[in-house]
Amino acid sequence: MNTAVQEKQKKVILITGASRGIGAFTASLLAQQGHSIIINYANNDQEANAVVQRIQANGGTATAFKANISHSDEVTQLFDYAIQTYGRLDVLMNNAGIMRLNKIEDVDDETIDQLLAINLKGPLYTMREAAKRLAHGGKIINLSSSVVGMKLETYGVYTASKAAIESLTAILAKELRGKNITVNAIAPGPTATALFLEGKSDELIARLIQAAPLERLGTVEDIAAVLDFAVNEGSNWVNAQILRVNGGIV
Ligand code: NDP
Repeated sequence: MNTAVQEKQKKVILITGASRGIGAFTASLLAQQGHSIIINYANNDQEANAVVQRIQANGGTATAFKANISHSDEVTQLFDYAIQTYGRLDVLMNNAGIMRLNKIEDVDDETIDQLLAINLKGPLYTMREAAKRLAHGGKIINLSSSVVGMKLETYGVYTASKAAIESLTAILAKELRGKNITVNAIAPGPTATALFLEGKSDELIARLIQAAPLERLGTVEDIAAVLDFAVNEGSNWVNAQILRVNGGIV
């Protein structure tokens, strides 16, 4: 095959929440392919800079930009930065998120507000900006969760935030008719990152491992492989879809 056809198109990719976990690993993988990556994060400068340094040491292109996605003015600044720095933006990966677990009868107002602000309002702000500013042929990839299908006790507010993201994915895909921009969601199952492991008992982790027919947790490699597909040309005809990546847990 002609090498020009085989070669992947180089893209400018904004990954929210890319200072660790799924976002950081995916950033490194995509940078190795020659894509330029904007590493967004909200708190930990050291972790974000370490991801940038790792990518640059391997010959890749990345820069970090601190912005709390739950604040719309910071989201606008993040997009301004991306477009001013790289000249255009091709891909938005809505990856930043937090998890808090409570029974609905116990959850306090602050937890509800925080979960919805970061997991729902944040991606809504970035999708709004991307809908206006993404380059022709662009892609929006949202991180949902397989808990939308599992409907686990104590996951109520978190699951509600991700269910809303799945609805927004399909609706925005329709609204972008004519712009050649696709919108899809990837919905991992339990994946071995801080978000999943912190605050969970060994017993709960063991139960969730057993719940998948493949009897293990997902890894950042498992999820990044599918995000890689979602970013690159192989997925050009995939639009308005939710893809669960979970070893068969649901
Ligand atoms: P991690 O906790 O490992 O990483 C979360 C990232 O999000 C960090 O880089 C963090 O940066 C950033 N972040 C948090 N809040 C904000 C904010 N307000 N603005 C900008 N960045 C923010 O999470 P995972 O890698 O595990 O999760 C990534 C995504 O995948 C999430 O959307 C999660 O819901 C989803 N997911 C994860 C699963 C799992 O089992 N791990 C399963 C299903 C879905 P900082 O520390 O600087 O704030």
